[in-house]
Amino acid sequence: MDKKFDLNRLNTKAFAREGLSLQGHESLSQFSRLGDLALSPSETHLKEAFQTPQVAWAVQGDLVPVSGGDPQVWLHLQAELELPMQCQRCMGQVKLSVKADTSYRFVSDEATAEAEDDESDEDLLVLTPELNVLELIEDELIMSAPLVPKHEICPVLVPMSAVDEAFEKALEARPKPFAALAQLKKKPT
Ligand SMILES: [Zn+2]
Repeated sequence: MDKKFDLNRLNTKAFAREGLSLQGHESLSQFSRLGDLALSPSETHLKEAFQTPQVAWAVQGDLVPVSGGDPQVWLHLQAELELPMQCQRCMGQVKLSVKADTSYRFVSDEATAEAEDDESDEDLLVLTPELNVLELIEDELIMSAPLVPKHEICPVLVPMSAVDEAFEKALEARPKPFAALAQLKKKPT
């Protein structure tokens, strides 16, 4: 990567002026807040198959001419990853695709950002000499992550035999009406 453009301290104006773009992959371990949303390797059912998810990202700078004024500084950001999360229906692991695709227009100060925010489709950011693009990517992905992660269709889980045994023992321990039920359950179907 061009040393001139450090993702942690991007000179957005220069980046946009030169119409540059950058792209790459970063390990999820670089994004601790985003990582908090993911199941940790020890919690996944497929420990041996677990690989640290990678965030694919791309940024592009753009200088947009404005008649009778300074050109606008724009940055387009895209990021994507497959995030292993816990399904809130079956509590199993679900890998969800989380994507961000945002355009930012940079303005000179906070007051301008607030004044123009309502009529702008794009996100407004105050232009600073050094922009932490990785933090921006993380913020966008956190906002794009589902609040209630779920499988589209939950996988059917094989009942655990230990639970069944305990259940049957409980049934056997209770005489009378449940004894008949336990007998019924034992019959092959
Ligand atoms: Zn599920």
